[in-house]
Amino acid sequence: MRLLTIGAFAAALTAATPAFANLNVFACEPEWAALATEIGGDKVSVYSATTGLQDPHQIQARPGLIARARNADISVCSGAELEIGWLPQILAQTSNQKIRPGAPGAFDAANFVKLVDVPTKFDRAEGDIHSQGNPHIQTSPANILAIAKPLADRFAQLDPGNAQFYQSRAADFSTRWQAAMAKWQAEAAPLKGMPIAVEHLSWTYLENWLGLRRVVALEPKPGVPPSAGYLAQVVDTLQKDPAKMVIRAAYEDDRPSKFISDRQHIPAVVLPFTIGGTDAAKNLFSLYDDTINRLLAAAKG
Ligand SMILES: [Zn+2]
Repeated sequence: MRLLTIGAFAAALTAATPAFANLNVFACEPEWAALATEIGGDKVSVYSATTGLQDPHQIQARPGLIARARNADISVCSGAELEIGWLPQILAQTSNQKIRPGAPGAFDAANFVKLVDVPTKFDRAEGDIHSQGNPHIQTSPANILAIAKPLADRFAQLDPGNAQFYQSRAADFSTRWQAAMAKWQAEAAPLKGMPIAVEHLSWTYLENWLGLRRVVALEPKPGVPPSAGYLAQVVDTLQKDPAKMVIRAAYEDDRPSKFISDRQHIPAVVLPFTIGGTDAAKNLFSLYDDTINRLLAAAKG
């Protein structure tokens, strides 16, 4: 009797719910989950497939992810083949046509920015994983800005009843974001021209934005861990052209950085890379606050 009452109540509630379309968003990485929430507000339900402590190139296509992808109205991913090692496997195990490549519900952020590090010659057999260019576009807030409006357009296309809502939230976000970018750029002025070493080519967009000068990457090719012999070459390079710090993402193996840090007597700096990479990087705004704070702290030290 009690169950029946609850069932009847639930049915009445469902009938009374206004007929707004609620978009289920499957975000491949936390930065896109955050941007989807900024644009979609309470009209979207957002799931992030990965955390800031996972390597987004290498994710297990586990059942929980497949279940989420099955119910998604839109996927929001970096694209540029960042997710090629796992997203196609997930899609192959769902019958969800909405987020198939080419469908309106397949949103690849990389399509809306100019990619850098585009290889002139590419051979996956050599272990390189950035076939289309550098997919780590979230390391520059200018890219986030460029993606906000196209994402709002896509939400509006999929959920026309709330088009105005998405567009106005995107406009509001863009205003706040541009103000934050001006603040970050001013704060980061002392970093201009600073020589750095990096583990993976994760930071090219950040380097270009802030004018950091990358001396060397510790990986011989993106995705290929450095051998001891290769690290010895890196040390040679850094002895001729010293870097002020060696940078890695929170999810990366710390050993190559620590080795270079010890040999060169420079700080090994962990940057959040995305939301959740550090405790302080809680949303899109604090992601860049923390990134710049950490760079400034290391530059002083
Ligand atoms: Zn990469």
